[in-house]
Amino acid sequence: MEVVKTLRELRSWRADCRLRGENVGFVPTMGALHEGHGALVVQSAKENPRTVVSIFVNPTQFGPNEDLARYPRTLEADLKLCRERGANLIFVPEVETLYPEAADTWVDVGMVGNYWCGASRPGHFRGVSTVVTKLFLMVEPNKAYFGQKDAQQATLLCKMVRDLRFDLEMVICPTIRESDGLAMSSRNRYLSEAHRSKATALIRALEFGVDLFQKGETNASVLEVSMRAKVSELAPEASIDYLGFADSFNFQPLAVIKRPCTVLGAIRLGKTRLIDNIPLGGS
Ligand code: AMP
Repeated sequence: MEVVKTLRELRSWRADCRLRGENVGFVPTMGALHEGHGALVVQSAKENPRTVVSIFVNPTQFGPNEDLARYPRTLEADLKLCRERGANLIFVPEVETLYPEAADTWVDVGMVGNYWCGASRPGHFRGVSTVVTKLFLMVEPNKAYFGQKDAQQATLLCKMVRDLRFDLEMVICPTIRESDGLAMSSRNRYLSEAHRSKATALIRALEFGVDLFQKGETNASVLEVSMRAKVSELAPEASIDYLGFADSFNFQPLAVIKRPCTVLGAIRLGKTRLIDNIPLGGS
């Protein structure tokens, strides 16, 4: 496994793959890797002779009062996980490589990013779609791997790939969870012990919403009230950012629930923001 920092090294490695006729799978990450990321690397290594993982904490997707400065950085452990899961090249660029001085070119995907995380984190998805575009242009992957854990991001990036006619296949992999159901996240390590024990309130509330829907409730407001009550019951100290049902294709909020949809939520425990979702496929 090679670790490279510069675009020149990355491009020369990529050119060698092309000469050898080897397809490249790509897993973009912000580091602080866990088994959720590991599963994406394993999937890519299974489907492609070569796998690139990027580790880059992208400043443009963080708001001014968010956790950019304290975002966990664990490079040595990340490299070990990547090596063990079968990655071939780790791209660890400097900020200037992605954002040359005075860079001011942006990719804005529009409506899919308007609600949910897009509403509570202004500018977040513009930062995500811009950095992923730049990384796609640098890595030129045949396939790119993203997690269902960030469902709105995955939908938005699939749309971007179609809209911009990127010549690559998007692969969305299932959410990897702890044994109690908590979705793995780099941010889980911020949780105090007390908050960790309450963190499953989110997935329990989403499961409760799915259950009520499956029993026949289709009114989004009724379902939202019930899911909010479930979070408050299980984790009274949590503040709820959003809970609701989205159309799976465009992530617009549904007033009357119909499949395919995604039930999704975001809560805060202390300073830690947790997101999760459950996709409900076609009827
Ligand atoms: P991040 O490092 O948080 O930007 O995530 C990098 C990629 O890993 C994204 O495509 C995420 O959706 C994916 N990912 C993060 N957590 C999980 C998880 N628990 N299960 C599956 N994929 C995940």
